[in-house]
Amino acid sequence: MITTSNLQKLFTTEEVETTALNGIDMTIKDGEFVAIMGPSGCGKSTLLNILGLLDNPSTGSYNFYGTEVGDMSERQRAQLRKGNIGFVFQSFNLIDELTVFENVELPLLYLKTPAAERKEKVDRALERMNMMHRRNHFPQQLSGGQQQRVAIARAVVAKPKLILADEPTGNLDSANGEDVMKLLQELNEEGTTIAMVTHSPYDAGFAHRTVNLFDGKIVTENFHV
Ligand code: ADP
Ligand code: MG
Repeated sequence: MITTSNLQKLFTTEEVETTALNGIDMTIKDGEFVAIMGPSGCGKSTLLNILGLLDNPSTGSYNFYGTEVGDMSERQRAQLRKGNIGFVFQSFNLIDELTVFENVELPLLYLKTPAAERKEKVDRALERMNMMHRRNHFPQQLSGGQQQRVAIARAVVAKPKLILADEPTGNLDSANGEDVMKLLQELNEEGTTIAMVTHSPYDAGFAHRTVNLFDGKIVTENFHV
């Protein structure tokens, strides 16, 4: 389970101070699939980045599976991320210089998984995402839908507890978007907890509930049946 309590995030630049998050109390239970929606600039990505230990809150607390992470250093957060969290982004964020296989292998290299086991796990993830035939290609040789399937393979290869997806279908046409949503739904049904930012009510329909943000606050929440 992950729980935030009165989470605040302030960004200060030379000219302006922005309150990106203004008191977020949120719990995501194991096995849940939660959609986060709201207008541009309301704090969705900031929240997802904090939930994913990519950033820390300015004030408030965040409990990640029993560990209080609010005050952790960047290094400690990176250590805790390993193997526990998988990310999927709108822009895929694959490394252009690495092949499909090498991109998916990265989380396992961070975990110092032995080579034979890495190969087996990467192959399994690529098969699952129907990308085995492209294992030696580079990201730029793939379509958007294929790149996102590789990114999902990378997100799941180390079997994380939690997947965070920031507008995962934002750069895809509707057919590829639907494929990606079905893959996320399958992973959730197998037990992976998912928090996903989306602008699409259709995509949100794959989740168990939607949390609506406005101006850094949770304004409404609706449960889907
Ligand atoms: P959303 O994902 O909902 O569109 P964001 O979480 O990206 O919104 O941003 C929330 C607010 O915080 C916006 O006003 C944005 O400009 C600001 N913000 C986000 N990241 C930074 C940053 N690194 N530095 C300064 N301001 C930021
Ligand atoms: Mg965003």
